[in-house]
Amino acid sequence: MSAAPPVAARLLRVTGVVQGVGFRPFVHRLAMRHALVGWVRNVAGAVEIHVEGDVEEIRTFHRELSAEAPVVSQIDAVAIVHAVPTGSCEFRIVASADADGNRPITADLSCCAECEAELFDPANRRYEHPFITCTSCGPRYTIIRSLPYDRERTSMAAFQRCERCESEYLDPANRRHHAETVACPECGPSVWLTDNSGAERSRGSAAIRDAAARLRSGDIVAIRGIGGFHLACDATDDVTVRRLRERKRRDARPFAIMVRTLGDARSVSVVSVEEARLLGGAERPVVLLRRDEESPIAPSVSPGLDRIGVMLAYTPLHHLLLEAVGRPLVMTSGNLTDEPIAIGNAEALRRLRDIANLFLLHDREILAGVDDSVARVVDGAPLLLRRARGYVPRAVRLPVASPRPLIAVGAHLKNTFTLVRGDVAHVSSHIGNLDSVESLAHFHDSLARYTDLFRIAPEVAVRDLHPGYLSTRVAEELGLSRTIVVQHHHAHIAAVAAEHGVTTRVVGLAFDGTGFGDDGSIWGAETLVADLNGYRRAAHLRSVPLPGGDLAVREPWRSALGYLSLDPASADAFALAFRDVADRDRATAERQIERRLNAPHASSLGRLFDAAAAVLGLRARCSYEGQAPMELESLAGSALAEPLSFPVRETDGCLVLDPIPLLSALGELRQRGEDLAILAARFHESVASASAEVALAVADGFGLDTVVLAGGSFQNARLLSSVRTRLEARRLRVLVPRQFSPNDGAISFGQAAVAASVLARGD
Ligand code: ZN
Ligand code: ZN
Ligand code: FE
Repeated sequence: MSAAPPVAARLLRVTGVVQGVGFRPFVHRLAMRHALVGWVRNVAGAVEIHVEGDVEEIRTFHRELSAEAPVVSQIDAVAIVHAVPTGSCEFRIVASADADGNRPITADLSCCAECEAELFDPANRRYEHPFITCTSCGPRYTIIRSLPYDRERTSMAAFQRCERCESEYLDPANRRHHAETVACPECGPSVWLTDNSGAERSRGSAAIRDAAARLRSGDIVAIRGIGGFHLACDATDDVTVRRLRERKRRDARPFAIMVRTLGDARSVSVVSVEEARLLGGAERPVVLLRRDEESPIAPSVSPGLDRIGVMLAYTPLHHLLLEAVGRPLVMTSGNLTDEPIAIGNAEALRRLRDIANLFLLHDREILAGVDDSVARVVDGAPLLLRRARGYVPRAVRLPVASPRPLIAVGAHLKNTFTLVRGDVAHVSSHIGNLDSVESLAHFHDSLARYTDLFRIAPEVAVRDLHPGYLSTRVAEELGLSRTIVVQHHHAHIAAVAAEHGVTTRVVGLAFDGTGFGDDGSIWGAETLVADLNGYRRAAHLRSVPLPGGDLAVREPWRSALGYLSLDPASADAFALAFRDVADRDRATAERQIERRLNAPHASSLGRLFDAAAAVLGLRARCSYEGQAPMELESLAGSALAEPLSFPVRETDGCLVLDPIPLLSALGELRQRGEDLAILAARFHESVASASAEVALAVADGFGLDTVVLAGGSFQNARLLSSVRTRLEARRLRVLVPRQFSPNDGAISFGQAAVAASVLARGD
């Protein structure tokens, strides 16, 4: 008889997204495979594993831990140290421990393929169960009350596991081993359908069939999901979609649609390989796809645009409903325009009763309102336009750790906030525009939830430079000992640099609608030489008066008039812009410019796009911000086009782009009958080429080799792609947003990156 091999013991600490993703059951299986004993447990922010047995087996275990981890997990680091053998004879999953430190929380996960198969299998005991989940799918962030992630600290605590669910939960060989959301028709949440007074019509599978039938006949149904309510209707029925627009008070801003499968997505739109990957990922964002010519989708879903926002079903309830409806559904957030999404049953009935005829409700409480995320593919890589469900509250590292915990309150529009401890940034979900009591309440609720979940007590507030923004008041009212102020476009550039781990000086192009400049004027087409600590304005678009101030956002003719006021000789070329404008309105606006009354000066790229749309005769008025740029991008498509003249001159050491020759040329060519699509394409190429030339000149002048592209204007794929291609052709390194949106959703992260760096430097 040979002697037993010596027993080794190791303690492993795995950090990253490792809780709520089936990590402990995976570790258990792996330990069994290598005949190791010991235990695994969740501690705050990590998984701890104690293994003992043959030293070679432990080595293989360690290697396979990273190599074979569940796909939805994300390992940041595995630390391994020697431990003392305990002489245990089994491997156990032990109860969670709690401690301080950073605590990653898993984002909500879409229904996995295995659960989807069981959902449609009549022989399975969870056949048609709308709350089927497992260790690798289901809600997470939106049902978590506190950490560590165990059922009793989630809204699933209201449901007692039945005997069969309990045995699956306890069985290490089962794929629902330690699935905190495990449930079945016997013991889980349920679904029911009511009319808009709350009176119940049907329950369970019957409710889903009932809702499907009503959707097919033109009703609008409010549906409770993971992060809140959706308003749903038949996406192929133009009359119904227009009725939903009327009731929701949303004229033209595009609606997202939902289909069940990738095949269904292909039947309404063109889907590339990268787009398919993005559509089908566990995050399930809305993906902007090119509308198929034969698409049955109603024109009023995305009027004037060549793209539609499509997402795949991501909850079992969506799968069942779409299967029963058999056609694509509009799925737009359950709110009135500009209000936060509704999450509670009673709240939804109160707020949405005038919009929806019916309510498909369930009793698994939603603890945080989270909107759908939105993304598109540009040059073969995903570009997030709205970072919300599926992505939050995933933590992101800062390149420079903050010596003090801080809160960056973000921008006025498309607000998010960011909480920081050390080098870990927790960026909130999309909150919306901070201009109503409701969105302010949403901000404070979300902040309270984040400070509680992540146990961060901020000591420093970070805010925008604009004295009048509500976010500024919010920051001041936090009453913290110190407030750091960050300029809007500096924050845009810092956000992108920081997510790429870049702390050195870069040339930053920050193109957007509006941001408060350090000279008191409105900025929005800036080229800054910047690092995390500071910036210098190196180039910008020529500044113009915007008669009517904020009105200009909705009325592109006002931007055109502003430009015309700088060069009255171009009046003929600009004529189309004022075709549908009343003489009286125009005269008032001209007086505002003359007397410098309510006509603030701005260098906004968004407003230049508006002015271009106006002089092309495309539109004089918009029903949402960004409508004119989006339509111009749609029109331009991928048509090849030559840039028009867009001169740059130097004033006081700053390069200034003068778009008046460009606008005049567009107006003249259009009046001579040149094709609108070609002119839209030439406009894009003119902006891209002039911006790239400016970036090159600044890079040369300062000896820099990296250019950052940031700001809402880079949601425009053609602009982003064209600027990038032009710069890369000249051997510059180009950084674009990846983890965050180019738009103001990224501002809080940029503010946090700047403040952390400033504090770390000891300023
Ligand atoms: Zn699953
Ligand atoms: Zn059960
Ligand atoms: Fe911005």
